[in-house]
Amino acid sequence: MNFEFSPEDEAFRQEVRQFFRDNVSPEVAHYGFVGAHPPPREVLRQWQKTLHARGWGAPHWPTEFGGTDWSPLRKHIFLEELLNANGLDYGWQGTHMMAPVVIAFGNQWQKDTFLPPLLAGDTFWCQGFSEPNSGSDLASLKTRAELDESGSHYIVNGQKIWTSDATISDWGFFLVRTDLTVKPQRGISFLLIDLKTPGITVRPIISIDGGHGLTEVFLENVRVPKENLVGEPGMGWSYAKYLLEKERTASAFIYFNKRELQKAKSIARAETVNGVPLLETPAFARRVAEIEADILALEWSVLRILTKEELRDSLDAVVSTLKVRGSELQQRVTELQVDAMGPRALRFFTHGTLQDCAPSEWDDLWPDHLLGRTNMYFFQRASTIYGGAREVQKNIIAKLAFGL
Ligand SMILES: Cc1cc2nc3c(=O)[nH]c(=O)nc-3n(C[C@H](O)[C@H](O)[C@H](O)COP(=O)(O)OP(=O)(O)OC[C@H]3O[C@@H](n4cnc5c(N)ncnc54)[C@H](O)[C@@H]3O)c2cc1C
Repeated sequence: MNFEFSPEDEAFRQEVRQFFRDNVSPEVAHYGFVGAHPPPREVLRQWQKTLHARGWGAPHWPTEFGGTDWSPLRKHIFLEELLNANGLDYGWQGTHMMAPVVIAFGNQWQKDTFLPPLLAGDTFWCQGFSEPNSGSDLASLKTRAELDESGSHYIVNGQKIWTSDATISDWGFFLVRTDLTVKPQRGISFLLIDLKTPGITVRPIISIDGGHGLTEVFLENVRVPKENLVGEPGMGWSYAKYLLEKERTASAFIYFNKRELQKAKSIARAETVNGVPLLETPAFARRVAEIEADILALEWSVLRILTKEELRDSLDAVVSTLKVRGSELQQRVTELQVDAMGPRALRFFTHGTLQDCAPSEWDDLWPDHLLGRTNMYFFQRASTIYGGAREVQKNIIAKLAFGL
C-alpha cells in the first residue's frame, strides 16, 4: 500500500491544529496530559462547548444532527491532532455509543430530547452493560425490566459493574432483560435511564491507579418511562452490536499510543545515565525503536481500514487484531515511560487538581513531563480487559481468520 494524505487533507490538518493551539486551555491541556479519568465535569462541559461552538462537538454524527461530512480520514486527522494538543477526548459513551444508536433506531422524541444537550455539553452519559457475572458472556445479563400494571413504566432491578464515569453522568444507557421466554440474546432491550431516578445507587470502585472513575450501579425498583426504550423491545443485543461496530478502528488506540510514545521519548531525553540522555543509550533506544515500529505498523493497518482497502481476512477478525495489538501497545508504551522515570516512578499520586499533581516541595523531582505517568501505567493494565478481553478477541481471530 502506498499511502499519502492529499494536499487538501494536509490543509485540513493545519486548520484543526491551529484551532487546538488557540483553544486548548492550560487547564484542559493539564487533564489531557495527565490522562485523568474522568476530568472534572465542569472542565469537560466547557471543553465540549468550545468544540460545539466550532461545529466540531460530534464530527462523526450526520450533519442533520450537528455532525460533519468529513471523510473517515479527516475524522482520523481530527482525533490525532486533538490528542497531540492534549485536548480532552472524553464522553465517548454519550457521543460515540448512545447517540449513534438513538440516531439509527430511536424515535423523533428521543432524538430531540437526548441529542442536543449532549452535543452542547450539558449532559453526560455512562454505559451500563456489564454485570458481576456477565462481562465477556454479556448475553447472560440478569438486570430485569418489567412493565408495570399500567404499562406506562418499566420497573428495573439488578446490578451493573465497571460502569465508567457514572459519578459524573446524568444518564445511562442500559442493557436490560425484558423477556425471559426467548433465547438470551433475544430478550434484551436498550433502555435510557435518568440516574437521578429513585432506587439508583452509584458506588465508586477505586482502581489500582487510585482513580475513582469506575463504579457499581445498583437498581432497585427503578421506575423508567416506557418511552425511554430505544427501538423495539428485545432488540437491545443487535443495537449493542451496532454501536460497537460503529467504532471499528477505535480499538487500536492509535492516537493514544502515538502520543504516549512521544511522552516516553521526552522523559528519556530528560533523564540521564552517567550524563548521557537515556534515549541515546543503546538498550533503551532499541526498545523505543521496537515500539515505534509496532505503532507505525498498527497505524497503517488502521489507515487500510479507513481507506477501505480490500482485506484478505474478515473485518471482524481484523478489528479484533487491532484491539489485541492496540491494547498491548498501550501497556508497552506506558511501561516504557515508567522505566524511563526509574525510581521516581515509585511515588505516584492520584490525578486531580493541579496542586495534587505538582506539590511545590517536589518541583525538582517532579518536572511536568512526569505528571500522571505512573497512574496511567497502572490504569492501562486494564486495557486488555475493557472493550473486550484479549482472550475473547483471540478466540474471534482464531475462528474467523483461521477457521479453528
Ligand atoms: C477500566 C474498565 C472500564 C470498563 N468500563 C465499562 C463500562 O463503562 N460499561 C460496561 O458495561 N462495562 C465496562 N467494563 C467492563 C468490561 O467490559 C468487562 O470487564 C469485560 O467485558 C470483561 O468481562 P469481565 O470483567 O466480567 O471478565 P470475564 O468475562 O469474567 O473474564 C475473565 C477472564 O476470563 C477470560 N475469558 C472469558 N471468557 C473466555 C472465553 N470464552 N475463552 C477464553 N477466555 C475467556 C477473559 O479474557 C478474562 O481474562 C469496564 C472494564 C474495565 C476494566
